[in-house]
Amino acid sequence: VKRNPYEPEFHQAVKEVAESVIPFINKNPKYKQAHILERMTEPDKVVSFRVSWEDDEGNIRINRGYRVQFNNSIGPYKGGLRFDPSVNMSVLKFLGFEQTFKNSLTTLPIGAGKGGSDFNPKGKSDREIMRFCQSFMTQLYQHIGPNMDVPAGDIGVGAREISYLFGQYKRLTHQFESVLTGKSLEFGGSLIRTEATGYGNAYFMQSMLIHSGQIIEGKTCLVSGSGNVALYCAEKIIQLGGKVLTLSDSSGTLLVPNGIEQTQLDIIKDIKTNKRQRLGVLTELFECEFYEGKKPWSIKADLAFPCATQNELDEDDASLLAEHGCLAVSEGANMPCTPEAVHTFHERGILYAPGKAANAGGVAVSALEMSQNSIRMSWSENELEQKLHNIMQQIHDQCVKYGEHDGKVNYVDGANIAGFIKVADAMLAYGVV
Ligand code: NDP
Repeated sequence: VKRNPYEPEFHQAVKEVAESVIPFINKNPKYKQAHILERMTEPDKVVSFRVSWEDDEGNIRINRGYRVQFNNSIGPYKGGLRFDPSVNMSVLKFLGFEQTFKNSLTTLPIGAGKGGSDFNPKGKSDREIMRFCQSFMTQLYQHIGPNMDVPAGDIGVGAREISYLFGQYKRLTHQFESVLTGKSLEFGGSLIRTEATGYGNAYFMQSMLIHSGQIIEGKTCLVSGSGNVALYCAEKIIQLGGKVLTLSDSSGTLLVPNGIEQTQLDIIKDIKTNKRQRLGVLTELFECEFYEGKKPWSIKADLAFPCATQNELDEDDASLLAEHGCLAVSEGANMPCTPEAVHTFHERGILYAPGKAANAGGVAVSALEMSQNSIRMSWSENELEQKLHNIMQQIHDQCVKYGEHDGKVNYVDGANIAGFIKVADAMLAYGVV
């Protein structure tokens, strides 16, 4: 805390990992002697830079850009860029640290990083977004490369932003190379990347339920958020036979008591992704209710999928879920449940999958996008979805291997220990670096 003051999100993430990993390290002194965990909590490198851009009225605007290169022991730095006013060093260090374990769990050769800016894309015109992205990349390009650091999207950075960023990288370097993932299909993107995080989260829930002798079919589900992760998590739940009752956004929660149908989800996708409107407008389009300023967690359901943002589900929400008989929670977002909420899940016997395991499908397909770019070929949708499904199953199985005690699986311990071992062994092999 002394070394990293005013970084509460980063402290929260490190504490959670330390609680799982320290008992394991104590039983495996080679990691303790080499101070591997301490080394893993210090990013390899952090860069911060000014991003100046001009708005449509001709005013000069200033934002701050960042890239946190956390750990490249098992592959090039890899992790998203977030554009949101809440972005600061603490948030990016928490996300980069989590990414170290997540990327290790995918079984693919990718290191960990995270970056972004406190720029708020909401309400900006396309031209303003373009000018911001070009200015941001004019600084960032010096620090990234296909074998060095390969950023992707995250909150506020979707296909539009990745395209502007990639266009500027190409203009600056004269290189067409795999330096960003989440690209459009016409210039090196991968099928299934858009869907991967959400689909992967639903698959993870399915594996977790099957392991405990249950099925997802027929279960009522609460999904929060209505961004990239939430929409495709909802889509896969529907395909697997679950009933999605809610989606939400920063203005409130949409409730469809009989379950959202695919045709309704297509309308929601258009409203959120293309028209960029609030969910509240949907009450005019089909039968549903909208609760202004409310989160979904007070609604009775079997399963919960927090897919919006960090710390969106607290202890009170967790207690409500438990009272209503919730069986399992699988995190689509990064760290959406507070530590107190996680404690409540464990205490009340609710299965709980942390984001670093359950939302790793996105970065896994990003790594597959890099592989396809390297061999200059594209794999089919079926092939990629099968690979994604297998990867999610393997992540689940690693969590069980390292997290099962007395017939019960603690997925937090499992994910942290399994993610730790691969990176720690690579760091040991490199000596003191
Ligand atoms: P998007 O920007 O596409 O969507 C974010 C969604 O969350 C929006 O619906 C937004 O509402 C809502 N939201 C944001 N802040 C709040 C808040 N304070 N209260 C309620 N709702 C809120 O982001 P993604 O879907 O890409 O990312 C969501 C989460 O998943 C993040 O934690 C991200 O780090 C994580 N993640 C994303 C991956 C990816 O592949 N995209 C990969 C792994 C993790 P509104 O529309 O009103 O802004």
